[in-house]
Amino acid sequence: MRIVAALRKQGFEAYFAGGCVRDELLGLHPTDFDIATSATPNQVRNTFPGTHHVGASFGVVLVPINAVNTLTKEPIKSHVEVATFRTEGPYSDKRRPDSVHFADAKADAQRRDFTINALFLDPLKPGPNPLVDGSIIDYVNGQADLENRLLRAVGNPDDRLAEDHLRALRAVRFAARMALAIDPATARAIRTHASELAGVSRERIGDELRRVLLHPTRAIAAALLTWLHLDKPTLGTDAQPPSTTPDPDQPDPDQPDPGRARQLSPALAGLPPMLWPGATIAAPLAAWLLDRQAQPDPRLAARTRASLCLTNDEAEMLDAVLTCTALLQQQWEKLGLAGRKRAAVRPGFVGAILALRTLNPPLAARIEGQIQHLAHQPPGLAPPPLLTGDQLIAQGHKPGPQFKQILDAAYDAQLEGRPATPQTKPNKI
Ligand code: ATP
Ligand code: MG
Repeated sequence: MRIVAALRKQGFEAYFAGGCVRDELLGLHPTDFDIATSATPNQVRNTFPGTHHVGASFGVVLVPINAVNTLTKEPIKSHVEVATFRTEGPYSDKRRPDSVHFADAKADAQRRDFTINALFLDPLKPGPNPLVDGSIIDYVNGQADLENRLLRAVGNPDDRLAEDHLRALRAVRFAARMALAIDPATARAIRTHASELAGVSRERIGDELRRVLLHPTRAIAAALLTWLHLDKPTLGTDAQPPSTTPDPDQPDPDQPDPGRARQLSPALAGLPPMLWPGATIAAPLAAWLLDRQAQPDPRLAARTRASLCLTNDEAEMLDAVLTCTALLQQQWEKLGLAGRKRAAVRPGFVGAILALRTLNPPLAARIEGQIQHLAHQPPGLAPPPLLTGDQLIAQGHKPGPQFKQILDAAYDAQLEGRPATPQTKPNKI
């Protein structure tokens, strides 16, 4: 508000723009505020000393602000993106426009992706909508679309989806998250260009899928990805016709539908809406892959890692969940006491159980019951080892292939509450 007022005082146009206006109209709490202005980046910098230029060629300047954490009341250093009204040239690299030209507010609205994202808010002019503090400037009929819960591309959907294929994934994210119907022409354009998503940088696809799968509406989004033929290009599998064909008697498959989401992706839909703090994409991604997997595929985790540019931690956990799920499905009944306890503390066990609750509820219930029981009995599931490598070395053993065998056998004995075999028994000191 201070920034808008300061720019206006200098005689420039300046409004809140894009996602923050949409979120305020929906009664949500916007997380970041973007400002669009007629001031050029240099004029913005002269108005606010100490600002950073991010991508000068895109006309975006970051103005630092002092915000306060609403929970802890601690001051946080943040910034507001102030972007000069602009039009964009062609997207030849499919990532960002080749050039931008400074323009007016109307042209700036027209270069945005969806009508609901192309609204401006003038905070200095009182307006009639009690949800927002100010008046809305709407060049693209975005307010009506928002009221009608409709996601519609700005301008010609075919051109807009061809320009930047990532918009297809953004469409799915917004439609699922805000329960918006996708305008039929926009949905058609998404389908037409779906296979071209393969040309978008894998980092951008991975980032978008993270946001989709970490949100409680993840299963609805996954169903939309499938119906819009975006699932295979997103996951990096070959673009082929989808295995699922719309049934003409069913409601329009391009629209968010929790019932169909449960049918298509049961394990994904069965996850708790809010995952645990610090959860990564690994558990929901594993659930989705398991829902889609006809045959176990040992290369699945590695392939998905490359397709989505996963971090090491994400990729390791994805692999752990998939491996642990296979272990529980195929071997749980054959595992002894020590094997079960070891399985329960493997990385990926929680993700595997969450998926199994849907994929094989009786097995999941059995495992959970047995693990609960074992956890409450001494020595518990993962007691600190009585025999350690250091102790073996002190006893004169040399680290080698046998070393691990001795330690494993000793720990198995400990987990099963039986005395260690003579070979593994530590010497009395
Ligand atoms: P959120 O922050 O919740 O992801 P958002 O709409 O604010 O949603 P941002 O990525 O922050 O999304 O982008 C801010 C605005 O920039 C959008 O509202 C939209 O107007 C415009 N925009 C972002 N990405 C694109 C794109 N790929 N094509 C066209 N316009 C875009
Ligand atoms: Mg935003």
